[in-house]
Amino acid sequence: RDNILDVRGLRIAIPGQDGERVAVSNVDFEVARGEVLGLVGESGSGKSLSMLAVMGLLPHNMQVTGSIRFDGQELLDLPARQMRKIRGGRIAMVFQDPMTALNPVLTVGAQITEALRLHNPSLSRRALRTRALELLDLVSIPMPERRFDQYPHEFSGGMRQRVVIAIAVANDPELLIADEPTTALDVTIQAQIVEIFDRLRREKGLAIVLITHDLGLVAGLADRITILYSGRIAERGEIEAVFRRPRHPYTAGLLAAVPSIDSTIARLHAIEGTPPSLAARPPGCQFHPRCAFALPLCAERDPDFQWFGQSMAACHRAGEDLPMIGGDDGR
Ligand code: SF4
Ligand code: MG
Repeated sequence: RDNILDVRGLRIAIPGQDGERVAVSNVDFEVARGEVLGLVGESGSGKSLSMLAVMGLLPHNMQVTGSIRFDGQELLDLPARQMRKIRGGRIAMVFQDPMTALNPVLTVGAQITEALRLHNPSLSRRALRTRALELLDLVSIPMPERRFDQYPHEFSGGMRQRVVIAIAVANDPELLIADEPTTALDVTIQAQIVEIFDRLRREKGLAIVLITHDLGLVAGLADRITILYSGRIAERGEIEAVFRRPRHPYTAGLLAAVPSIDSTIARLHAIEGTPPSLAARPPGCQFHPRCAFALPLCAERDPDFQWFGQSMAACHRAGEDLPMIGGDDGR
């Protein structure tokens, strides 16, 4: 595998007066060129913190250890100045709210052109404009010529997010990190954004890390998935394997909450309860207070990973045939 991003043993801790709090522990994930990785978890699961660590944007009071390799280079050892060059150049980002990412007083065309100019100062105005129009077309904005001279407020939320994506990929990054990129958008628009990501991956060989709490969103797009719970990996692997046969009760619960595609009625079996707070993480398996399959052992011992060929799960019962909802076998 030619991994553009390879994260191993990531640990993020916040030192405090009563000892450190570990926000992320023993997290591994990787993504190859042209691949999409879904990084899935509820809020507080550590998914956004993990990606902030990749981008070198964690608050200074947090301590990161482990390894984050980008194209073979260890990012955790990189001086801030070099990290800044990679970020926004070879690694691009798209966040949830497209409005904050755009400047309201500049036309969309001016903003894309500016992004291009930063990395290609020798390009003529005409060449910049041509390239910007191509980018608008790449993200399926109709009538790019006309749209070029409009302001962000003249665009719908979905169209604005496309512009943000166009700016993010303006300089051909190798890795795109998208943190809840469709959360603010309605379902049809979400599908269109997913399609754009799919095209970027196919046509540009872009590697994408899609951070989301929505398993349904990654279903059609991701090649691999890492599911975080309470700062640790619950399950990870090839997406088909994980969806066909979830090994962790948490994964099964998330899958059961995804509306089935051929049904008009959403099957909402939300998992009861909430994840533990950072200050009150339980011993043993982090999921045990919510798990329907918990054994006494689960409250005492942190489960090791069990490997199943295409996926792995951290659950004491991962190898058993539990009557879990979710996954194709359970339907
Ligand atoms: Fe449930 Fe135990 Fe597995 Fe944790 S280790 S998910 S509590 S069965
Ligand atoms: Mg987040």
